[in-house]
Amino acid sequence: MPRTILGYDVGGTKISAVIGDENGKIIKSLRKPTVRHLGGGRLKEDLINMGWKLLDEVGVKQPDNIGVVFAGLVDREKGMVLSSPNILGLRNFPISDALESEFGVPVDLENDATGATIAERMFGNGRGIDNFVYMTLSTGIGGGAFLNGQLYRGAHGMALEVGHMVVMSNGPVCGCGRRGCLEAIAGGRGIARRVSENITAVKESELFSKVKPSEIDAKKVFEFKRKGDMFSQLIVEETIYYLAVGIVNIINILDPEILIIGGGIANAGNDLFGPLRTAVREEFKSMYRPVKILRGLKNGPDLAPVSVPLFNRLVAEGNPGTK
Ligand SMILES: [Zn+2]
Repeated sequence: MPRTILGYDVGGTKISAVIGDENGKIIKSLRKPTVRHLGGGRLKEDLINMGWKLLDEVGVKQPDNIGVVFAGLVDREKGMVLSSPNILGLRNFPISDALESEFGVPVDLENDATGATIAERMFGNGRGIDNFVYMTLSTGIGGGAFLNGQLYRGAHGMALEVGHMVVMSNGPVCGCGRRGCLEAIAGGRGIARRVSENITAVKESELFSKVKPSEIDAKKVFEFKRKGDMFSQLIVEETIYYLAVGIVNIINILDPEILIIGGGIANAGNDLFGPLRTAVREEFKSMYRPVKILRGLKNGPDLAPVSVPLFNRLVAEGNPGTK
């Protein structure tokens, strides 16, 4: 029987629990909104309940491993969440110990963007590719990379924070405190803010004028663009331009073979990828090289926590690649 992995993805809006196997098959999954104001105690309770429920449903008494990917700063060696921008009061939280003592199996913890990068290496477009960059476009923008066949973490485990690359000097203030970060412009929250701030354009847009301010998001911008809304068209074009600037910066520094884009905004599909490939090509100017821009795994968020323990096992066995 293939190894069974219980995986968790703890994000800002929802927690996913999945049961997957070593072949990258997701057998069952379960989602629940993240409770933001009740700290680690409630988080632990939710994770444990979701885990047992899933194991019960698939008839597995004990998984072989547990993988956790977390949106926030983690210490993977200690199995600890150091801080979270989403769950209030969550600091130095020993998430791996909590799950290990409940389920009795080893727990591997990883940052969510790193986890998604690992999933691409194990099961996605990053298979057999020694140099690739992964970017996640969702509420925020994160990333990861494999360089020379190895996961590149950096000195503090914070490499490839591509969302905090400044692409517009004196641009909008980012959550990190700097101005004009890619995330502040082209992340989901940044896109929504750019729409909402242009009150005149919102009023004049036949489609946006009917949307409540709290319901404006990147998905609607792409949807309205498809329906011919001029304002949305402008927002999308601007988003794509700044993404291209950021992507060419990354390519100029790391020279990857491919760049993989995942996250909710990647669901815009060809409305994003088509014009983005063209914009990147233009933005290269004289530094052109044939870097493929590919879409991430559709079930990447589910596969990320499943991939982490599988990958760590390969590394421990001295085989960091998955060729
Ligand atoms: Zn920033």
